[in-house]
Amino acid sequence: MSPAVPAGRTLAAAATATALLAAALGAHTVPAAAAATTGKVLVIGVDGAVLDRVKAANAPHLQGLMAQGLTARSTLYAGPMAATSSGPGWSTVATGVWPDKHGVRDNSFTGKNYAAHPDFLTRIENARPALNTYAAADWEPITSTDQNGPIFSAKVDKRLSLKGDRDGYRTEDPKVAAAAATELRTQNPDAAFVYLGEIDAAGHSYGAASQQYLDAVARVDTLVGQLLTAVHNRPTYGQENWKILVTTDHGHIPSGGHGGSTLAERGTFVIAKGAGIPAGSVRDDVKLADVAATALAQVGVAAPGIDGVPLGSPDTDPFDTVRPALRTRVDETGIPAGVKGFTHTPPAGWSVDNSKMGTGGVTEWAGWAFATDEFWTQSQRDQWRELNVRSRDVFAVADSDEWDDKTHTGTFDSTLVTPKWPVVGGSTRTLTFQTHYRHETGQTAQVLVSYNGAAPAVVKTYTADAVAKADSIALQVPAGATDVQVRFRYSGNNNWFWTVDDVRLG
Ligand SMILES: [Zn+2]
Repeated sequence: MSPAVPAGRTLAAAATATALLAAALGAHTVPAAAAATTGKVLVIGVDGAVLDRVKAANAPHLQGLMAQGLTARSTLYAGPMAATSSGPGWSTVATGVWPDKHGVRDNSFTGKNYAAHPDFLTRIENARPALNTYAAADWEPITSTDQNGPIFSAKVDKRLSLKGDRDGYRTEDPKVAAAAATELRTQNPDAAFVYLGEIDAAGHSYGAASQQYLDAVARVDTLVGQLLTAVHNRPTYGQENWKILVTTDHGHIPSGGHGGSTLAERGTFVIAKGAGIPAGSVRDDVKLADVAATALAQVGVAAPGIDGVPLGSPDTDPFDTVRPALRTRVDETGIPAGVKGFTHTPPAGWSVDNSKMGTGGVTEWAGWAFATDEFWTQSQRDQWRELNVRSRDVFAVADSDEWDDKTHTGTFDSTLVTPKWPVVGGSTRTLTFQTHYRHETGQTAQVLVSYNGAAPAVVKTYTADAVAKADSIALQVPAGATDVQVRFRYSGNNNWFWTVDDVRLG
């Protein structure tokens, strides 16, 4: 998609903003003029909100944002990376990096590393101190200096901290919303975060399946409406380019509660409205870390190295193109019958060599497969599959552990083969990909490279865990070579797994 340039922008400003974005995005392609110098952003955090219950509730404002913008469902980590609880969840939203970087694994905040990975409002203050930042919350670790966080630092221009606790959110949320609405309408915030806690409290008290939970969603929706009205009623609204994001920190099981590894607890979403976001759009490649990245891009602040990607950045991962071919389960009876989440059909130009594979085994994992997180992680929980946080949408999976759960001959030995990419002899190219590998003796995971059809040579062998890692391998292209082909070979016998995603030759 190519967002239109908002009226009143100069070409120089556009070039500067685009350059900043390019720095922030690294390898990602930047659409022309994705940010505006008049860009402003409001992030609304609704704790413990389940997307399907938001859709079912009397929630005209949240549903209106979905109709006018983007709805993107995604999943979180689970232990041992982090619990599906508020500390890690809001830290991920605020910092744009996953818990293995920001360090918050549970609500003790032990190990927090906000110094290296600050919240997006603090990043804005560091880069553009003239901009106005605002945060308001009634869960104290978000904004209170005397609590475990604070997730949003004292560098934020103005912070409001109230104390909701379990039953108090119903009275404190309206105070947060009223104060934030006044700020948004009468002051000049460039970036704001507003937190509302009552939905989570209702989940704990009554369960996500309850009428009380729907009622809490409806009350919070009214407060969201107050915030949207405040933005719309700004005297200068017509000259401003607002992006509105709504997100949550974790899900809830139907009977109430979270922290564990079920899909209900790991469920999150991003709702977004603003220039360049098609009305009624739905995406599968957006993750929670993208909230901060989008907010930063909106105000033209670079954030090199964060995990999040701005919403305006296009999805160019070839694995995601196989989504229409995804199928429902065959042998994996633990995965809900309606979930379409795997295929053995590779993207155009790619292939899988199963000539060394044994026969039989669990159909879904007979050789490299292409699968979604929702599907793969439900094959077996709590074995680190949930830790694959840097893969997006569809990724490639080789899983000898799951394959072995049904009678087979031989061992798992499968090779994923890329297209032949053109190269120039004597140059250096960088192969990058997201990898998630759980190691065990007896397993092999190798990256091999072949130039002009010559015998593949091993350029990398994994001998230890590589959990949710962005990997990169420098390739020295031999003189005279005109193409390169990369292979990912995995073999094992009831060992663990390897996933790769977003494979690129830079
Ligand atoms: Zn909770």
